Order: sequence, then structure tokens, then C-alpha cells
Amino acid sequence: MIEETSMFGFPQHAPEPAAEPPAAKKGPSKLLIAGLLVLLALLPLVESRDFMCAACGKRRTEHQVWGHPVVATEAETRCSRWYASRFGSDEPHRWVAGSWTEVRALCGLRYFGTHHYDRTGGPVAEFTPQMQLLIYEWFPDPVETKSTFLSLAQWEAEGTPERNRQEEVASRLRIWGRTSQQPRNADAD
Ligand SMILES: [Zn+2]
Repeated sequence: MIEETSMFGFPQHAPEPAAEPPAAKKGPSKLLIAGLLVLLALLPLVESRDFMCAACGKRRTEHQVWGHPVVATEAETRCSRWYASRFGSDEPHRWVAGSWTEVRALCGLRYFGTHHYDRTGGPVAEFTPQMQLLIYEWFPDPVETKSTFLSLAQWEAEGTPERNRQEEVASRLRIWGRTSQQPRNADAD
């Protein structure tokens, strides 16, 4: 091979040292890192828990890793949109924990779901957004209805009059929700 030289006789490009040895070392470590990342992405590290707003029916999902909240997503429902049109969108939410949690991998793969009856919120947690909206539309005073929902956000202590009232109201609403089909305002307005 003929080496190029400058006008002063020095080589124009100094001969570069061979770069092969470091490259040979990088191969296995990259593979190891890639393998660890894949393993990390597949481990069941993320616990996702659903919440609902007792007032407006908006949904929220909190994702935790080793018990630390990392990200939360919120989703509007028909009820929460109706609520915002009546009460405004600046109203504070009253989040109530649902009983269902899911365990997933970081890549999104779902491993299993579990019911936690002991950690759930009050009876309002059983209501779907559709049922909440139906109740809002049926009863004449939305402010009073909202107050009723908030009174069902957390269970009172067992045996107290407040607890008995919660159970009675929740039971009536459940029965009413199962039997009613059309909101009264559909033909009243
Ligand atoms: Zn809300």
C-alpha cells in the first residue's frame, strides 16, 4: 500500500491505531444490557389501580412501581362531561378507590388482576358512570344528588346511624338503577 505524503514529506494522515480490541470487548456487554432491558420490560413490576370520582364519575388509573406512584391517567365519561356542563370543569374531584387492581409488565403485558375488597371506597364505587348519569338526570336537584354521591364516597363505621343510612340509600339506588330504563328528563324537557 502506498502512503500519501504532504509537500514536506510527512504523512498526511497519521496511521490510526487498530480499533479492533475495544470493539471485541463491547459485543458481549451490549448483549448483556439488551438482555437485562428485555428482562426488566417483562417483569411484573407495575400495579395499576382504578379510581372513580364520587361527584362526576370521571375515571382515573394510577400506576405504581414498588408501591411508588409513577404515572396516572384520567378518562372522561359521559357523566363527567355532563357534570362539567352543569358545575364547571374546575370542581375538585373526590377520588374513590375501586376494588380491582392489575399487575402488568413495563411493556404493558398483563399478568393478573386482583380484587381488594378491604381497600375499596364506599358504596358509590359500585356505580358505573352510566348509572350515575341516569341518577343525575332523574332527580330534580343535581346539587342534592351530588351531595348524596359524596356521602357515599367512604363507608362510615359499622353500626352507626350514618352507616345504616348509607346502606339504605345505596340499596335503593341500586334497585332503582336496575329497574329504571329511561331518564325522566328525556321526556320532561
Ligand atoms: Zn370529579
